[in-house]
Amino acid sequence: MTAACVIGHRVGYSRSPALHGYWLRTMGIAGRYDLVDIAPQAFGAFLTGLRTHGYVGANVTKPHKQAAFALLDERDAAAEAIGAVNTVWVDGARLIGSNTDVAGFLANLDAQAPGWDAGGGPAVVLGAGGAGRAVVYGLRTRGLDVALVNRTLARAETLAQYFGPGVTSHPWSQTPRLLKDARLLVNATLLGATGQEALAIALSDLPGSAVVCELNYVPLESELLRAARQRGLRAVDGLGMLMHQAVPAFEHFFGVRPVVTPQLRAALEATLAEARH
Ligand code: NAP
Repeated sequence: MTAACVIGHRVGYSRSPALHGYWLRTMGIAGRYDLVDIAPQAFGAFLTGLRTHGYVGANVTKPHKQAAFALLDERDAAAEAIGAVNTVWVDGARLIGSNTDVAGFLANLDAQAPGWDAGGGPAVVLGAGGAGRAVVYGLRTRGLDVALVNRTLARAETLAQYFGPGVTSHPWSQTPRLLKDARLLVNATLLGATGQEALAIALSDLPGSAVVCELNYVPLESELLRAARQRGLRAVDGLGMLMHQAVPAFEHFFGVRPVVTPQLRAALEATLAEARH
């Protein structure tokens, strides 16, 4: 039986097993997809021995995405640009990796807020961690200027320097000013996720045409998305990104390209609702 997994540490909330499991079941594929918890010190040995552990490939999540990048024989262009991978597969004796977060982020916006990248104004991105980096790269491929805000300013400055003109770095205190002409606001921080601090941000300064996008998906309806909907703004949740980034990963692992459907979303939403009770 073909088997793949998601490798992370303390990521029991991950819906990747439910997602890949849904596709395996509904497409009648005799495969398995596990959640494997590995501490950082054991990650290298596990990933390089992926085949001997019985896996043809793996998704890689917190906190291993950058460590995985360094261990691969080959990576795609998005991974090279971001310095992190979220999908790894075995090809003979070689380990190959990709960053599908970028494609997932963009495909989700395209699906949930068509035309989001038309019109003027920059995108404001909160968060300069691994996900923030993927988001900035994706937005630049669509030609958007990006104002990057991060608690640790030096981290945003490093990213802005890396991406060059078109990406500026800002301390958190400048967010209200930056929102005034933003066409898109993205939360790529941990803030607002279950068990984390709240994201304290007022959306009153955003133009009425702006789109608000959340990367966290637990809870599905974050305070940020609720506030955006209350203001009549288009709001895009993180579950869509999770589903879309998984499409190319599943294809690498199991050889069939799956599709994101309303039924898949409903199945995942049901698992999120169950977790609340
Ligand atoms: P990360 O590399 O650990 O980065 C965390 C980010 O959150 C950093 O910018 C950090 O700022 C900021 N942050 C953490 N605590 C904060 C606080 N108390 N106040 C202000 N900022 C704070 O994590 P990541 O991989 O980028 O992931 C970020 C989030 O996106 C996670 O919740 C993850 O689950 C989600 N995500 C979702 C998807 C999806 O498919 N939907 C994909 C990828 C990631 P500092 O630099 O100052 O520490």
